[in-house]
Amino acid sequence: MSGTLNLAGAPVVVVGAGIMGAGIAQVAAQAGHRVFLHDARAGAAASAHAKLGETFTTLVAKGKLTADEAAATLARITPINQLEEAASARLAIEAIVEQVEPKRALFVQLQTLLGPDAVIATNTSSISVTALAQGLPAPERLVGMHFFNPVALMKLVEVVSGLRTAPEVAQAVFERAAAWGKTPVHAASTPGFIVNRIARPYYAETLALLLERAAPPEVLDACLRAAGFRMGPCELTDLIGHDTNFAVTRSVYEAFFYDARFVPSPVQRDLVDGGLLGRKTGRGFYCYPEGAPALPPAPEAALVAGEVIVHGSGPIADALAAAATAALAPQGWGPARDQTSDWIGLRIDGARLQLTDGRPARTVAQQLGTPDVAVFDRPFVLKDGSALAYAVAPGANPDWQLRAGAWLTRLGHHPLRMEDAPGLVAARTIAMLINEAADAVQQGVCDEAGADAAMKLGVNYPAGPFEWLAGWSVAGVLAVLHELDACYGGARYRASPWLQRRA
Ligand code: NAD
Repeated sequence: MSGTLNLAGAPVVVVGAGIMGAGIAQVAAQAGHRVFLHDARAGAAASAHAKLGETFTTLVAKGKLTADEAAATLARITPINQLEEAASARLAIEAIVEQVEPKRALFVQLQTLLGPDAVIATNTSSISVTALAQGLPAPERLVGMHFFNPVALMKLVEVVSGLRTAPEVAQAVFERAAAWGKTPVHAASTPGFIVNRIARPYYAETLALLLERAAPPEVLDACLRAAGFRMGPCELTDLIGHDTNFAVTRSVYEAFFYDARFVPSPVQRDLVDGGLLGRKTGRGFYCYPEGAPALPPAPEAALVAGEVIVHGSGPIADALAAAATAALAPQGWGPARDQTSDWIGLRIDGARLQLTDGRPARTVAQQLGTPDVAVFDRPFVLKDGSALAYAVAPGANPDWQLRAGAWLTRLGHHPLRMEDAPGLVAARTIAMLINEAADAVQQGVCDEAGADAAMKLGVNYPAGPFEWLAGWSVAGVLAVLHELDACYGGARYRASPWLQRRA
C-alpha cells in the first residue's frame, strides 16, 4: 500500500481514559480535533472529562488559555459509554491496560466499527507493534504512537512501525503529532523502542558500580549530575519506583533473548524484593524525606611541586592548563605545556594525574612502571566546583594518594575518590549510552538525529548520544569499551559495529 494519508481535522477516538488517555485526549482537542473518550470502566471517561475541565480552569487562571478556548476545547471532548458512538472517528488511539489480548480484541472491534481504512495507534510502551497487528483484518493500519507522561508537557512521541505498518500510516500519525505541538521521531518496533532501550545503561552502569562497591549511591549520582543529567540514576530510580524500573529492564532483557548487554542487577532486585521501592515507600537507595547523605568534602593539601607539565591537546587539556596556571599563579610560577603527548592530564614531579582513557589507574601504573598514578573522570560539562570521580593506583605512595585529590580540588573540581574501576563513572556511562544508540541506529531502529531528539525530549538528557560522540571521538569511546570488556569479559561491553566501522 502506498500514497498519502491526511488526518488533519479527523475525528479521534481515545480508548482508555487513564493517565495517558486523558492527556492524549487533551492534546488532540487543544489542536482542534473532535475527540471521543471511551473507557471500559463505567464512569471513567466522564470523570476524566471532568478532571480535564479542572485542568483547563487552572490553565485559564495561569493565563495559558482564554476562558473561551478552554470551554471550546472541553466541548470538543465527548465522553462515551459505548464505543459505537465513535463510529465517525478516522483515528483511534489506544491507551488501555498493557496486555496483548485486550489490546488485540479492541483493535479488531475498532477496525470492524471504523472500517479497514481508519488508522489505529497504540500507546504501548513495551509490546511489539508487529505482534499486536497479528490477526487484525487490516494489520497495515496499526502503528505505535508512544507518548510520554505527562502527555501535555512531554514533547516526544515515538512513532513506532511494526513489520506490516504502512509507511503512509506512520507518516500520517507523525504529522498529527507534529501538528499537536510534539516532536515525533520514527522508530522501528524493537524492544524498548528508542528511549527505553538506549536509556538502559544509564541505570545499568551505576548498578554495576554499586554491585562491586566502587562508590556509594550519592557519589555516583553527584558525578552524573555533574555530567549534565538532571538527576543521578539512584535518585531517579527512587523517584520512578524500583518496581517500575526493574520491570522495564527485565522486559527489555527478555525481549533481547537474555543479551548480557541488558542484564538486570541483583542490587535492584533486592530493593524490589525488600519493598524498598523508592520515594513511594519512604526508602530506596536513600531514606525519605531526608534523601541523599552529604558528599565527603573536597580534599585539600598544599600544592608543593617542583615541576608541573600539562599534557595533551583539545578543550579538556586547555581547560586543565588554564586551571593549573590559575592555581600556581599565587606561588609566582606556572605549568609547562606539552601538546604533543598522547595522553591528557598533569605530570607533577613525575607523578601522573591523567584523564581517563578507560584504563584503571593500576593498569596505567603497571604500563609506565611507576606507582604514582591517578586517573580522573571525563568532565562532560566544564563547570567550577562540580563533582568529578577519580581513582588512585593501589601501590601509589601515601603522599600521592593525598595530593592527587587535592590537585583536582585546586583545578576547580569537587573530586570524589572511588575504587579503581575502568572508565570511572561518567566516561563509562556515556560510552555505553553512545554504544547502545549506535547499535539502535545500526539495527535500523532510528537514525542518529532521532536518537538524539528522543533522549533529550523523552528522558531530558543534557545531550543526545551522537552529540556526546561529536564532542569526544569514536576512538575514545572504543577505548573505554575495550577496557570495560577487558575487565569484565562477556558480551556486555562489546563495541557496536556502527562504532567499529567508523574507527
Ligand atoms: P491507566 O491504568 O492509568 O489507564 C488505563 C485505562 O484503560 C483505565 O482507565 C482502564 O479502565 C482502561 N481499560 C482497561 N482495559 C480496557 C479495555 N479493554 N477497553 C477500554 N478501556 C480499558 O494506564 P496508563 O498509565 O494510562 O497506561 C495506558 C497505556 O499507555 C498502557 O499501554 C501503558 O503501557 C502506556 N503508557 C503508559 C505510560 C505511563 O507513564 N503511565 C507512558 C507511556 C505509555
